[in-house]
Amino acid sequence: MPDNRMHIALFGPPGAGKSTQSKFLLKRWPIVSLSTGKMLREEAAAGTELGLKVRELLGRGELVDDETMIATIRKWLENLPPDKGFLLDGFPRTIPQAEALDEILNELGRPLTGVVNLKLSVSEAVYRLGGRRICYGAGPEEIIHINDEEAVDRCLARGGLLVQRADDLPNVIVKRLNVYEGETEPLLAYYRPHNIVLTVDASGDPEAVAQRIVFGFEKK
Ligand code: AMP
Repeated sequence: MPDNRMHIALFGPPGAGKSTQSKFLLKRWPIVSLSTGKMLREEAAAGTELGLKVRELLGRGELVDDETMIATIRKWLENLPPDKGFLLDGFPRTIPQAEALDEILNELGRPLTGVVNLKLSVSEAVYRLGGRRICYGAGPEEIIHINDEEAVDRCLARGGLLVQRADDLPNVIVKRLNVYEGETEPLLAYYRPHNIVLTVDASGDPEAVAQRIVFGFEKK
């Protein structure tokens, strides 16, 4: 598939590694990506109008309303460079979002060419999310697991700070997994007839997971 035809949505339960995979894929292909979760967290931290509106929802693990999300994604897609592919990390998350996305992409003449379904067991997702910490400090932020001693030492050695996301607390993790099952997982059935779903085992080494995704697309 030509690289600028990579029009991909990354899809999977919280903890499946969407953002980690998107970093790998950005190095591999000339694409641009948008993580809606990261964008919303940054808006919340900056206290913008959108940020103030969504701050509480994020902390509770609930979804931001479709209208807001669709307007945001439309603006982003309309400003995309035409010579690059794109990767959506965390959008769509509901059927109305998926329908709106199809409509917008059809208008732009750039329909989705792939939906990556990162598959992970609930127990693995809970383990990953419960132990997830973000290392903030000099250099790029790094996502690590609290049980990974080497990564913890590396973070502290560079003066980094280990921070837990507000929505990675135990009660919120359960809520997010339930929201995924109820609202987002049905999207798989929505996309199946389009014949663009690539299901990938998201357990184990993230680099190996990225390899599976790349192989799945490049053999097309
Ligand atoms: P993530 O970083 O993808 O786990 O997203 C974190 C949080 O951002 C989610 O739990 C939602 O509250 C919100 N969010 C991200 N993407 C969407 C979306 N497409 N629709 C609604 N809410 C979203």
